[in-house]
Amino acid sequence: MSVRARACIKCKEYVIIHPGNPINQVEIKKFEKVHLGHTIVTVDLNEVKGAYSSYKNGTNENDTQKTE
Ligand SMILES: [Zn+2]
Repeated sequence: MSVRARACIKCKEYVIIHPGNPINQVEIKKFEKVHLGHTIVTVDLNEVKGAYSSYKNGTNENDTQKTE
């Protein structure tokens, strides 16, 4: 079973898609709003993992924050 993600090619950021998770739906909407006008694609997570940084908002992951 493959995991899919919404990814912005311009910013090299992605958000993982969790089907049926309403909180995740909100996160994806937020991601799409932030990257409005950019090129957002739906890809397999394996295609972006490592190359792109994951988009996190208000979580306690120890990813470096890149957004202003
Ligand atoms: Zn973007």
